[in-house]
Amino acid sequence: MLFYNTLTKKREEFVPIEPGKVSMYVCGPTVYDFIHIGNARPMIIFDTLRRYMEHKGYEVNYVSNFTDVDDKIIAKAISEGVSADEISERYIKECRQDMEHMNVKPATVHPRATQEIGGMIEMIQDLIDKGFAYAKNGTVYFRTRTFEDYGKLSHKNLDDLRSGNRSLLVTGEDEKEDPLDFVLWKPKKEGEPFWESPWSEGRPGWHIECSVMSRKYLGNTIDIHAGGEDLIFPHHENEIAQSEACNGVEFAHYWLHNAFLNIDNRKMSKSLGNFFTVREIEKQYDLQILRLFMLSAHYRSPLNFSHELMESSKSAFERICNAVDNLNFLAQNAGQEAMTEEEKAKLPQVKAFTGRFDEAMDDDVNTADAVSVVFDLVKFANSEAAGEISREYAKALKEEILILGDILGLRFEKKEEVLDSEIEELIAERQAARKAKDFKKADEIRGRLLEMGITLLDTREGVKWKRS
Ligand code: AMP
Ligand code: ZN
Repeated sequence: MLFYNTLTKKREEFVPIEPGKVSMYVCGPTVYDFIHIGNARPMIIFDTLRRYMEHKGYEVNYVSNFTDVDDKIIAKAISEGVSADEISERYIKECRQDMEHMNVKPATVHPRATQEIGGMIEMIQDLIDKGFAYAKNGTVYFRTRTFEDYGKLSHKNLDDLRSGNRSLLVTGEDEKEDPLDFVLWKPKKEGEPFWESPWSEGRPGWHIECSVMSRKYLGNTIDIHAGGEDLIFPHHENEIAQSEACNGVEFAHYWLHNAFLNIDNRKMSKSLGNFFTVREIEKQYDLQILRLFMLSAHYRSPLNFSHELMESSKSAFERICNAVDNLNFLAQNAGQEAMTEEEKAKLPQVKAFTGRFDEAMDDDVNTADAVSVVFDLVKFANSEAAGEISREYAKALKEEILILGDILGLRFEKKEEVLDSEIEELIAERQAARKAKDFKKADEIRGRLLEMGITLLDTREGVKWKRS
């Protein structure tokens, strides 16, 4: 398997630290609002990489954090008059729901910054003791000049950065020894959440959480560290400085970064206001279609979002689902049960699609090519299914498509449209059952509706329903 490594700027063969195992850390979202579809890109891409490695037989330890202490969370809490905890709890829950609907598997561990403060204080103290950090008036800074490799990930010219940053030094930061020094701990401001520490009542800087959580759950050196390309500098550069200064060993062997999801060729972001949340997209499309759209481009290429592209992903997705549906029907109803000799002879041809799929994925996670292999397979299966076909052969073709879909995290299921009239009918039936005191039947109908994705709400004005 080859990965393009941001650290070396080369494509490199993947060699895990421990044979058969992969340790992987993916920087997760800051939970102050619903995630947008830009945030969904790394989630979908790195989940697909994880699934592929699992398919190849690796045991993957996948850690992804929730940043639940941050200026934006505090600002939102103040504007709503609730606690910061309430905000982060709420949006972690919403994010997990989005992940589930995009078929992104939960990480092995989803650590939260606020639950790891003790570990952060320990690492900061260790960095101070080793001379890599210093405290000034309650703030602790990382001393970038003492870390020789500073800049190795982002390949930036540090002198240029220093002179650029010197002029940008903001009030309160002129106590830094060097313009590139960054905050490990900062004192609280009025009304902010805080923790006791040897330096001040305050909270950690953003970068330290990932160094601490990665070490705690995966060890001093990990195989893969990933995230969006905006994280290369300063976030990942600073994580490397903290971890390698503290632990004295290399932090991560392979650094993978996805390019942005853009709109009108500008980065989709909260601050620019040009974003769609995953939840908004879900009102219009099954999120499997969003997933297919994301996977149709290579992760290191910028991807422009548009409704036209979503529409074409939708018809592409339906094309696959129809093929699977048809094969499913034939696997149960075709006249002939066993495979003919001629069909058996074609099995290596069917398997060859998996070979091509693996080749694409081995080539720096080329999901764009992998998706085209699935389409080629569907085309082949459709032409096979057009003639006489045995049940066994139809089943083999269907399974091949489903296996590849599963690696991509795509469920090729045809969803039956549930009509409003059908729902209303069932609700009326349930009301009648309740009136007749047949509560068992009423509950059964509620359960059936739930399976169809319909939730009932008994209100004072009568029964209301919503699609979940
Ligand atoms: P944040 O909550 O801003 O820290 O972002 C969480 C993750 O989403 C990070 O890995 C970001 O790099 C990534 N991300 C944010 N915006 C985009 C975008 N427009 N396209 C791709 N990735 C993004
Ligand atoms: Zn991080």
